[in-house]
Amino acid sequence: VSQDRIRNFCIIAHIDHGKSTLADRLLEHTDTVTEREMEEQLLDNMDLERERGITIKAQAVRMKYNTSDDVEYTLNLIDTPGHVDFTYEVSRSLAACEGALLVIDAAQGVEAQTLANIYLALEADLEIIPVINKIDLPSANPDRVKEELIDIGLDPYEAILTSAKEGIGMEEVLKKVVKQVPPPDGDKDKPLKALIFDSLYDPYQGVIAYYRVMEGSIKPGMKIKMMATDKTFKVEEVGTFAPTMQPTKELSVGEVGYVIASVKDVSYCQVGDTITNANNPADEPLPGYQSAKPMVFCGLYPVDGDDYEILRDALDKLQLNDASLTYEPETSEALGFGYRCGFLGLLHMEIIQERLEREYNLDLITTAPSVIYKVYKEDDEMVKVENPANMPERQYIDYIEEPFVKATIMLPDEYVGQGMELAQNRRGEFKDMQYLDEDRVKLVYGLPLSEIVLDFFDQLKSVTRGYATFDYELSGYREADLVKLDILVNKDPVDALSCIVHRDSAYEIGNQLTKKLKEFIPQQMFKVPVQAAISRKVIARQTIRAKRKNVLQKCYGGDVSRKRKLLEQQKAGKKRMKQVGSVEIPQEAFMAILEID
Ligand code: GDP
Ligand code: MG
Repeated sequence: VSQDRIRNFCIIAHIDHGKSTLADRLLEHTDTVTEREMEEQLLDNMDLERERGITIKAQAVRMKYNTSDDVEYTLNLIDTPGHVDFTYEVSRSLAACEGALLVIDAAQGVEAQTLANIYLALEADLEIIPVINKIDLPSANPDRVKEELIDIGLDPYEAILTSAKEGIGMEEVLKKVVKQVPPPDGDKDKPLKALIFDSLYDPYQGVIAYYRVMEGSIKPGMKIKMMATDKTFKVEEVGTFAPTMQPTKELSVGEVGYVIASVKDVSYCQVGDTITNANNPADEPLPGYQSAKPMVFCGLYPVDGDDYEILRDALDKLQLNDASLTYEPETSEALGFGYRCGFLGLLHMEIIQERLEREYNLDLITTAPSVIYKVYKEDDEMVKVENPANMPERQYIDYIEEPFVKATIMLPDEYVGQGMELAQNRRGEFKDMQYLDEDRVKLVYGLPLSEIVLDFFDQLKSVTRGYATFDYELSGYREADLVKLDILVNKDPVDALSCIVHRDSAYEIGNQLTKKLKEFIPQQMFKVPVQAAISRKVIARQTIRAKRKNVLQKCYGGDVSRKRKLLEQQKAGKKRMKQVGSVEIPQEAFMAILEID
């Protein structure tokens, strides 16, 4: 394909504004897929994705588009993940493009994620084409959206009005992509540089890397090198998605496609890394690479200790597909053998938990999410603590630092009070407030990441009745007066229940947490004290009264078969319990910290 007939673009949007629907319509309009194939596809569904194999993960689709004067263009549509946890991945997808369609819901207007995406697109130097979608809705107000476009520095006259649902405006969108988005530059005769923006693991072919060729070209037989890891591989196949995999002889500068090269592990195909020619390597990699850095950690323990091996295998398999998932063995006195896992954020954590349970039939106890603390000790050593149970004793600690984020909250002005109160209660530092228009406000706060991890977004949504949007980025580490809060159940400290909290709120949290635990831990045959303590000093206490004798006890564990056990648990509403000392503690108790306010 000649370079000046290629256009590489992506679609950016706030969630639900119609990105996927618009993509589908563009594929139909260019006859890349038929309407029927489209109906059969139903993207965005993991189970389906697995059953139907890799072709359905349409992260980069190639379309052919003929202009009215019959010139054929190759349009590559690159998909971007749509959640704040994945900002880095988004930035790498954008780096593979020259232009972006900015989809805005004609009824909702500009939202937090719209703005966050615009900043990323501007940083990547992309040509931005505004698309005002859902104009078929009775509540659509394209004129208001156009005014908002002016506020954010875009030209309202460039905006295309569409209804992705009804297929209105598709020809205009494609025309504009050809006209406005610059063709890729780069030199075909230079050594290969290809930017990896996604990868996936296929059990038969190994890792399939998705990339954009920035310089040179790539073809089967070539020996390639991943510049971040220095690993070399022999190319077996290159091709494009149209939308299923189409092998080709070569992919040259400006083109987007896949490579199969017997790569056994996605950690050798990191998003943002540069593929080069091992026999004629580029001098330096493309800019912007970051190795995946988990920010949120939790412990994962099988309810049934016999499932430990299954859990390990499951984590091994999931990691093949997800280089940002980390895990290492961990033991807890209370929970036994398990893993401490690291995630990009809370959503990522929930996805992994869900997959472990659904796809591997595991019953897991997960401990409350935690962040990485930097603990500076009296002897000048610094240790990173990602599990509260491992916090050194008070007397060895000089000071502790915690991760801070810059958080951007957007909400209607009638909820500003509630939003600010919530941020302040979470130790937020006010930074900035701006009116985006008459009734929409942007708040910027510095907040400890640990407070965000504790359900901040859900609380924000609840105090603003769902109208707020939220985005954050890590801004660095800060000293804070933090203490480890220990929880004792029946006088025994339960390590998996410890948490790290700010000294000022330790009493309040201790109080609330013991109350919650009293609610969650079922009555035993004897009375059970639940205490919260700092450095062995008890600061709060509740007592779970003893159960009357004649109550039948439910029996868990024993030698029931795995399948029976599952059925029974489903019947019991999946009541996951772990015997800790003489007391049975249910899953909810380990997450109780998320429920206090
Ligand atoms: P995404 O989250 O940005 O990918 O949004 P989707 O493409 O999944 O669309 C979100 C919802 O909006 C879905 O229920 C779509 O059917 C609907 N939708 C998308 N485009 C339009 C449109 O032009 N008009 C109307 N009325 N609904 C639309
Ligand atoms: Mg979507």
